[in-house]
Amino acid sequence: MYLRVQTQTQPEPRMNALEQLMASHIAQNGPMGMSEFMALALGHPEHGYYMGRDPFGQAGDFTTAPEISQMFGEMIGAWFADMWMKGGAPSRLTLLECGPGRGTLMADMLRATSSVPGFHDALDLHLLETSPVLRARQKETLSGYNVRWHDTIETVPDDAPFYVIGNEFFDALPVQQFIFQGGRWHERRIDYQDGRFCFVACEVDAPDMPVMQAPGEGAVYECSPLSLSLMTVMAERVAAQGGAMLFVDYGYDAHAYGDTLQAVRGHDYVPVLEQVGACDLSAHVNFAALAESAQKAGLQIFGPAGQGAFLQALGIDMRAKMLQQKASDTQRDDIQSALGRLTGDGTMGRLFRVLCACPAAVQPEGF
Ligand code: SAH
Repeated sequence: MYLRVQTQTQPEPRMNALEQLMASHIAQNGPMGMSEFMALALGHPEHGYYMGRDPFGQAGDFTTAPEISQMFGEMIGAWFADMWMKGGAPSRLTLLECGPGRGTLMADMLRATSSVPGFHDALDLHLLETSPVLRARQKETLSGYNVRWHDTIETVPDDAPFYVIGNEFFDALPVQQFIFQGGRWHERRIDYQDGRFCFVACEVDAPDMPVMQAPGEGAVYECSPLSLSLMTVMAERVAAQGGAMLFVDYGYDAHAYGDTLQAVRGHDYVPVLEQVGACDLSAHVNFAALAESAQKAGLQIFGPAGQGAFLQALGIDMRAKMLQQKASDTQRDDIQSALGRLTGDGTMGRLFRVLCACPAAVQPEGF
């Protein structure tokens, strides 16, 4: 049982509107689970981080692979066209992107596959996106294509082979955290005390978790029930209809303890409980848990592979050389540096992992 030491009912004047809402919610209901905190910080309809801003690029908070270079989307487009052919080139397919950001990845995938015979004619394009600002941006980037938007997976059609891409999507979905203290698990929740948000440990029944080494004092276990239920629904569709899923994100390959919640603003790490709603919040993706959900639905798993190794196996070095042949000196340098960022061991090449889930008969490239 959690005992409140002090109740703050008057929100501090310097708090932003979302922080005030959260503080009064906590005052009324007690400490808030981290997944609720994260869901509100990122997705509150009025004040959530993603709902009112385009966070990408130099002027924003962070840069993603498709925003670094067109080569990323081109390789992934070619991968999906190849998977479609390996699946017998069905005359209709649903292609869903989860969390498309500015729509850059999808635009590059589509441009790169425009000459694949029959592929575009078969495509039915869908985007899973909750942010109105980013939807407007995607509409611009993908003008000329027939695209439909969805708030949840339930409205995405399930009557055709189902192909799914997501880059840095699962890391934005809420996680719960548990902390091992005094010989038992507690849920790590967020309280509001002395004018600030802080973590508190609340007694709960032991969470359902995979078998790992015995936790030491202070060990943190994270899970993302929303990610796993979404993965299960999508994997069941692929198992029933055919198709393939490809997810790229930063994360870990095997179950592990650790607090990976992080906040980023202006390309720097910032404290996770400050400027709530004004900073990006994310957690590393547990690829083992995602893979298990897809396997339970009957799919086979490839990877996680490093993003660098995956892109190189698909021919990104060759593509860079081709682009460089027609480029100015400055452009040549830019292409080389983008290639380095996407594939280098010390940059995104190793930390970013690529996971494929597809039916057993198919052998994807790149793994
Ligand atoms: N894939 C893009 C953007 C990654 S940022 C890129 O690589 O550049 C995360 C994206 O997921 C944003 O578009 C954000 O608005 C979207 N998003 C976050 N939470 C979501 C949710 N619960 N449902 C659907 N989209 C979500």
